[in-house]
Amino acid sequence: MIPYGKQEITQADIDAVVEVLKSDFLTQGPTVPKFERSVAEHVGATHAVAVNSATSALHIACAALGLGKDDWLWTSPVTFVASANCGLYCGAHVDFVDIDPRTYNLCPVALKAKLELAKQEKRLPKVVVAVHLCGQPCDMEAIGALAAEYGFRIIEDASHAIGGKYKGEFIGNSRYSDITVFSFHPVKIVTTAEGGMALTNDDRLAEKLNLLRSHGITRDPALMTCEPHGPWYYQQVDLGYNYRMTELQAALGVSQMQRLDDFVARRHELASRYDQLLGALPLTLPWQHPDSYSGLHLYVIRLQLAQTSLSHREVFEGLREQGIGVNLHYIPVHTQPYYKQMGFREDDFPNSMAYYREAISIPMFHGLTFEEQDRVVSVIEEILGNVK
Ligand SMILES: *Cc1c(COP(=O)(O)O)cnc(C)c1O
Repeated sequence: MIPYGKQEITQADIDAVVEVLKSDFLTQGPTVPKFERSVAEHVGATHAVAVNSATSALHIACAALGLGKDDWLWTSPVTFVASANCGLYCGAHVDFVDIDPRTYNLCPVALKAKLELAKQEKRLPKVVVAVHLCGQPCDMEAIGALAAEYGFRIIEDASHAIGGKYKGEFIGNSRYSDITVFSFHPVKIVTTAEGGMALTNDDRLAEKLNLLRSHGITRDPALMTCEPHGPWYYQQVDLGYNYRMTELQAALGVSQMQRLDDFVARRHELASRYDQLLGALPLTLPWQHPDSYSGLHLYVIRLQLAQTSLSHREVFEGLREQGIGVNLHYIPVHTQPYYKQMGFREDDFPNSMAYYREAISIPMFHGLTFEEQDRVVSVIEEILGNVK
């Protein structure tokens, strides 16, 4: 089976992890800060807080922004459930904004319309999570302008997008947002096995993220309510969690970061090959906004169902049967049973549902060879070749 995504681990990665195993610190040592600096410097952010997953990073990002009971978090339906669940963790309500039919990202026009309504009903969102689907950045300038107008905060869920750029600058510099989150799950662009990171340029938010990562406990006298009792002293000043990343994971991350440019460049090479090889088939291929340089976590094709005799499911199953490990990103979150019980209806977000009925993620990862890619293409051709 050729998977849709896969990590790439070199001997240098293995050596870096083994070195940490032999060192004094398996957690809370010097490697996590080193990893944080390597990512922050690469993308141009002031602060970076590494955690055990992007899900944890999204949770503490929401908490640091003060999201709480009776507040609203809005995001795109076409995302992994974690982009929405983080709002529920904080006791907030979640709602969605439909996607743009070309980029599949949260649509700023739909956002503006929904904000106008919400303003009248006095239920404006406190946080909007902008998900850079497949690695292509959202229209951050437009979303940022709406944030200024309607007074909400922005988290970029850049789980798919490390190494990508928006208007010539790396995603993660949070120019138009409060906090940006990366994921280092093995299918993502850079991996630490499990892991995530929250980046911000705001000193206060960084302080808060640091506290929330580790029980709300500080050893910094400047953050304490009284003089330390002695050198042993720490204080719990907030209710936090244990969301720490280990030194082993950070060592893998530092080693992987050295190849980030290469990872993304290879994905672009593969994507343009797909663009050429699949161009004549009844498919809608990924559209890239001229302002963006995608991280290209995913390559999603959409079936032009009117031009094939097969159903979406039949094509998907046909690909799997022939050893192509396709996947579907994502089942719109509002259709999940846990969200449906909140009152969402499938047709609340028609562009998201239209996308869901046609989308298939085909193999896209650094180690995919041209031979494997050719095989993916020929299986797709063979299946769709039985075109009406
Ligand atoms: C993978 C992913 C997450 C969750 O990342 P973890 O590191 O597995 O917690 C969140 N949002 C999006 C868009 C993702 O793709």
